[in-house]
Amino acid sequence: MPFVKCSVDGCNNKLQPALKPDLRDRETWVYPECDRCLQPVCEKHSTEIDGQMICDRCRREIEARLPRQELIELGIERLFPPG
Ligand SMILES: [Zn+2]
Ligand SMILES: [Zn+2]
Repeated sequence: MPFVKCSVDGCNNKLQPALKPDLRDRETWVYPECDRCLQPVCEKHSTEIDGQMICDRCRREIEARLPRQELIELGIERLFPPG
């Protein structure tokens, strides 16, 4: 059984299951994942935005696309204080 890994920026961190509904059946285990691209993502490479887990990859996409005002509204702005 291969490990579930974070793949953001070549990270390769092995992920710990967030939930194990059935301890003996790994198929049922739930890993932290990005709510946007649904890829497994480690804590280091995920950010909670607007109640959703967003991986760094998607966060960069969102940032590149949205005007600054919308970033502020989403709460992304505060993650990047000026300076
Ligand atoms: Zn993502
Ligand atoms: Zn990672």
